[in-house]
Amino acid sequence: MIDLHTHTWRCGHARGTASDYVLAAAGQGISTIAITDHLPLPASVLTTDPAAAQYAMPESDLAAYVAEVIEARELAARAGGPEVLLGIEADLFPGNEGYVRDLLSRYPFDVVLGSVHFVDGWAFDDPDRRGEYASWDVRELWERYFGDLITAAVSGLADVIGHADLVKKFGYVPEGDLTDLYKGAADAFAHSGVAVEVNTAGLRKPCAELYPSMPFLKNLHAAGVPITIGSDAHCPAEVGFAYAEARAALTEVGYRSALVFHGRQAEEVPL
Ligand code: ZN
Ligand code: FE
Ligand code: FE
Ligand code: ZN
Repeated sequence: MIDLHTHTWRCGHARGTASDYVLAAAGQGISTIAITDHLPLPASVLTTDPAAAQYAMPESDLAAYVAEVIEARELAARAGGPEVLLGIEADLFPGNEGYVRDLLSRYPFDVVLGSVHFVDGWAFDDPDRRGEYASWDVRELWERYFGDLITAAVSGLADVIGHADLVKKFGYVPEGDLTDLYKGAADAFAHSGVAVEVNTAGLRKPCAELYPSMPFLKNLHAAGVPITIGSDAHCPAEVGFAYAEARAALTEVGYRSALVFHGRQAEEVPL
């Protein structure tokens, strides 16, 4: 089993070093773990919204983060496993592409998760900013979010789209049929060549289900979009969280394999 989404102490809102995560992965019988802490945010965001500094490591820490993961990888290799991938979770929103592209070009990342955590500068997944949902029509919000998600996939910056229906986190879900949104995103992901992760963190949140939902996952499978699996752990104890549920969902939908990445090249592994 694999865990391709984990965060370390460096982002400021998670606990544990890269090596702590590797030990936890070994304990869970995970064969490949990617450390994917949050890519720094651009100055344009941090100056208009200083509180956003709590979402990611400062840019000055990125080199030390990379060194920490590579050291953990070497330690794990000497200890007989697990395999450790150098990953990162990049915030993709319109206008941030150049900044992300520049940072990504500086280090030998194995895997890049592309995530949409901001709509119009609003960090809609932050519990402290939940009040802002009241100022949106929920369907309009979902349409905006899915539009930005497609833009993120088409940018070509990411290998994997993170928690693809994160907008449901607090349970704000539009009434009625969502097939058009799911199918539109699935087709765009397929054309862009990105994978999607099955992210178990949703089970720990008010929405209380996997990201993506079963209807969305069915559309992704129908469109031929490959998957990875991730816990989005923010502490080592969350590594491999709720994998029985993830496996059951994937089997039900018809997935038989997942992807891992080396130097940003995909490789299929059996589930
Ligand atoms: Zn985080
Ligand atoms: Fe995220
Ligand atoms: Fe994450
Ligand atoms: Zn995340």
